[in-house]
Formats: sequence, structure tokens, C-alpha cells
Amino acid sequence: MPTEELKASADQYLMGTYARQPISIVRGRGTKVYDLEGREYVDFVGGIAVNLLGHGHPDLVLAVQKQAAQLIHTSNLYYTEPQVRLAQMLVDHSFADQVFFCNSGAEANEAAIKLVRRYSHDKYGAGRFEIITMKQSFHGRTMATLTATGQEKVQKGYEPLVPGFSYVTFNHLAELQHALTDKTAAIMLEPIQGEGGVHVVSREYLKAVRELCTQRDILLIFDEVQTGMGRTGTLFAYEQLNVQPDIMTLAKGLGGGVPIGACLAKAPVAKAFGPGSHASTFGGNPLACAAALAVFRVLLDGRVLDQARRMGEYLSKGLSECKDRHHLVRDVRGLGLLQGMEVEMDAKTVVADCLKRGFLVNAVGEHVLRLIPPLIITQPEVDRLLEVLSHIFDRHAAQAAAH
Ligand SMILES: *Cc1c(COP(=O)(O)O)cnc(C)c1O
Repeated sequence: MPTEELKASADQYLMGTYARQPISIVRGRGTKVYDLEGREYVDFVGGIAVNLLGHGHPDLVLAVQKQAAQLIHTSNLYYTEPQVRLAQMLVDHSFADQVFFCNSGAEANEAAIKLVRRYSHDKYGAGRFEIITMKQSFHGRTMATLTATGQEKVQKGYEPLVPGFSYVTFNHLAELQHALTDKTAAIMLEPIQGEGGVHVVSREYLKAVRELCTQRDILLIFDEVQTGMGRTGTLFAYEQLNVQPDIMTLAKGLGGGVPIGACLAKAPVAKAFGPGSHASTFGGNPLACAAALAVFRVLLDGRVLDQARRMGEYLSKGLSECKDRHHLVRDVRGLGLLQGMEVEMDAKTVVADCLKRGFLVNAVGEHVLRLIPPLIITQPEVDRLLEVLSHIFDRHAAQAAAH
């Protein structure tokens, strides 16, 4: 279907929840995608931090093909090997002892929220259920997770919200201490706030939060839906921050593009979920788990994680140099291949200009560009993006000066 026609049909048949870029993507290979007209784009969005191995990675494709032919789905009424193997792999490579599988980031966070409530209820009785989250956070779009999300624009119009959440300023310890009550059951945060504008947690803050939580048996939840599975250069961002959570959620990159989410926890917490306490029909089905296993194996072979770390540093350095040269760039933040660039101009304009020049980039909020490419992004591709950005900033500055 021609792109114009597709756009018109999309407007007619799809609920208008998204403002899409005006291209129809039909194919992907490695770090690149191709639109209907055959134009090539270097993908610095990666399906929103999902396509860790880029597009069409042979190991992932083969794993999905084989599993699809063998068994796609059978429900959690029975055992399936890919699910158990994936759980074991996650446990072997993280702080956690047990895993619950679901299908998205929001669902993983729902599971975490329910686990907190159940754990606290069983141990301390009713009434101790409050979860403190961060302003500018993002935890999903279901009722509980949009309530956990500390952004008014995500919550507006959906009131009444779920009871039991309060919000504090990210990286502000005194405010958090002040917000603690004898009802506090958990503190939930992203090691890097992705959707909220790419803000990295401070190590001292995180260390202090961990201590507070341990002293009072408050559970610490890390939402690593975006930062997990190598995005920041280590398998999980918390490894670089030297602080372990009690619960961690994963989704985006976990299946390399096949939908899957996971909630991981230490044993004493995980044990709060017994038979019938939580469930998901699709959660951890063989197809999704086979995909995730394939992604995990590629990550563990080392080269991809090394590449992510090196390219993350290279991109970060390049963006900082770009900031030094262009007054339109206010700030550069991030870790590994989750980088944000705050600009003086409308970030959407930069996104549109990049698209015209063959680069997919993403904006979070009005002034922040977010770069979340596949972990296999290459140095020449980063160099070309930096040139394109530089060109866009030069032109925009010239235009502004002419007015
Ligand atoms: C994307 C995201 C979510 C929500 O994930 P969905 O799969 O869209 O439900 C939750 N938390 C964080 C940190 C995210 O980046």
C-alpha cells in the first residue's frame, strides 16, 4: 500500500494514540531499516531500545523460526523448557533468585507492584502498601503503572488513580527521607530515566536509598525495562552503580523485538507469589523465551556487550564535542547506548531533519533527543550521525541569526 494511502487508512482504522513519522518501514537489516520507497535509514531508535541485535540477526531469526515450527504457545498450565532455561539464565547473571514472565514493561512493573503489596501484606498486615516513585519517571500505561509514573501528562484524564503512590524529586535524598512513612513498602526508580529525558541516577543517592531500604525492610525496585540487557554497556545498569535492588523489571530489549517482560526478585520477596496469586496467559511462552534466549546468548558471548560499551563511550564523547561546538546544545547525558542530548530548539524539528537525511532518532519531551541504537551500531554510523546533527545545528543557528 502506498505510504499516503497507508497514512489515511491508519487515521481511519487506528485509535489516534500515536503521532507517527511519515514513513512506512517495510524491512530491516542490521542497524538499518528501509521504507516503502526503498530509502535507507540508520536506526538510532532501535524500536525504542528494543532491537538490541539490530534487525534480522541470524541467531534470533533462526531461534524464532525453529521455535515457531515446534511450539509457539501452550500456556503456563504446563512446563516448557525455553521458559525455565531463560529464568535460570537471568538468575545466573543477576542478583535475583526467581523470575515471573509477562509480555511488556508495564506488565513487568504491575507484577513488581503486586509483589510488593503481597510481600508487605503477608509480613506486616494490611495498611503498609505505599510505593514512593520519582518525578519524571516512566513505568508504563496501565492504571497502576501510570500512577507510578511521576508525570502529570501521562495521568491526566485517567483519574481516579490507584491509591498508595507518592512522588519525590529524583536524586534528592532529603526529600525522599521526608516522604518515608510507616506505610512505605517500596521505592521504585529507573537507574536512568529514559522517557523522562535521560537523567542518570547519582551513585551516592542510590547508595543512601539502598541503606534506607535495608534498614526499614522497604523493597527497592529497579525498573530496568529500558536500561537492562546490555543497553548501558553492562548486562544491567545496576552493575555499574554498585547497588542491588530487591526487585528488577525487564522488557524492551529482552526479546530483541519479540514481546516479553520479566519481574525478577530475591527469594524471600519472590516467595510472596504462590499459585494463583498472579498470572499471565501469554507470559513466558516458548516463542518469546526462545527469542530471549537467543538474544541473551549473543550478549553473553561478550563481543556485543563490549561493542555496546565502546560505542556508548564513543557516542557520548562525540555528543559532548558536538555540545562544545554548538550553543544550541545545552546538555548531554546518559550511560552506554542510552544517550540524551538536550537542545535549545524544538527536538521534533531535529527528528524530522534527521529523518530526511536518513537517520532515525527520537525525542523525549520538547527538548531532548534520545539515542538508543541497536548495540551493534558502528563507529562510522555514529560519525555520520554526529555530522548530520552538526549540520542541522549549524543551519538552524544560521536561520535564527538571519531573523
Ligand atoms: C518503556 C518503558 C516501560 C513500559 O514498557 P511497555 O512495554 O511499553 O509497557 C516501563 N518502564 C520503563 C523504564 C520504560 O522505558
